[in-house]
Amino acid sequence: MKKINIIDTVLEYKKFKKKIDKVVFNVLKSGVYINGSEVESFESELSDFLNVKHCISCANGTDALKIAILSLNLNPGDEILVPSFTFVSTAEVVVLLGYKPVFVDVDFRTFLIDIDSVKKNITKKTRAIIPVHLFGQSANMTEIMSVSKKYNLWVIEDAAQSLGSQFFTKDKSNKLQSKNYTGTMGHIGTTSFYPTKNLNCFGDGGALFTNNNNLAKQIRLIKNHGQAKKYTYKKIGLNSRLDAIQAAILRVKLKNLNQSNNVRRENAKIYNAKLKGIKEILIPQFLSDIHSHIFHQYTLIVKNKKMRDDLKNFLQKNGVSSMIYYPKPLHKESPYRKFNFMKHKSSEELSKRVLSLPIHPLLSKKDIQFVSDIIIKFFNF
Ligand SMILES: *Cc1c(COP(=O)(O)O)cnc(C)c1O
Repeated sequence: MKKINIIDTVLEYKKFKKKIDKVVFNVLKSGVYINGSEVESFESELSDFLNVKHCISCANGTDALKIAILSLNLNPGDEILVPSFTFVSTAEVVVLLGYKPVFVDVDFRTFLIDIDSVKKNITKKTRAIIPVHLFGQSANMTEIMSVSKKYNLWVIEDAAQSLGSQFFTKDKSNKLQSKNYTGTMGHIGTTSFYPTKNLNCFGDGGALFTNNNNLAKQIRLIKNHGQAKKYTYKKIGLNSRLDAIQAAILRVKLKNLNQSNNVRRENAKIYNAKLKGIKEILIPQFLSDIHSHIFHQYTLIVKNKKMRDDLKNFLQKNGVSSMIYYPKPLHKESPYRKFNFMKHKSSEELSKRVLSLPIHPLLSKKDIQFVSDIIIKFFNF
């Protein structure tokens, strides 16, 4: 039976094998495994790509969030707003650093942070907000930055799932006014190069972005033990480095990022066309249009939990893997319950009804049609 996986790292290696073998071998021969020219070149190429002043690499996406928060010099007990429907890192680092995560709900149709819920949860202690550009679509940064201005809040964009996606602003007649890459519109942006992400390496990796010179300086200090120069410590820091082999791999992958994001978009178009008429499911909704989305995930909302679970099993029986991102909202997970006493209507409902389909760029149009046809068969559509 034909098998379609949600991710295919071996196929990914095969596609880039020639180039990657060469650059990895060069790093091995160079003897420079930490920092050095590969890391510097990657940082500068990625900041050029994103059109952001500073790109600072680190060990992973969770560290990137941790370093970003540390660079803000907050006080114990300060509150940080985080969505309740996201990967755990976003809230975890807030607690680890001694701050209070205040969970906010997401919008039911876009999965993105809900601005009304943000406004309702702002208190005198709120210092920052971490919007997550979930599944590859930018949160509404115009709204978020205007709330940030009004209440004097820092904005850290979690772009772990959205590298290469843009936020479009349009005027009243729907004419495009500006496009900016996610991770470059808040005070700091963070990302991850974990093997399943859109820009990925063959191990762990992460980065931070900022246009603010002072924050960039703080971030560089913190990620390197707080050292201004060797054995001179200005702050309590940590050790968080991207290694040279991963940087060399990422330089190869970055050249292909726009193209692979385009393939994801084309795949999404096929799903949309084939599935849009099925009344038991909702297909993804765009904040502006399909070109602003990079489909880290293609996520359906199914009518109810039973039907979602049955569909998942039916796909599996037919050789297609699918995933539930995320089966429980964070404020309902036991270590986080004590930080929240509110009901989050959309997060709670979504965790029962979402299903993410295979969409990675090594799938062919035929593969996507094959998956769609199984779904169509399930619904007898
Ligand atoms: C993957 C991910 C992270 C964490 O990245 P790691 O490199 O695995 O530490 C953080 N936030 C979101 C939204 C993610 O998807």
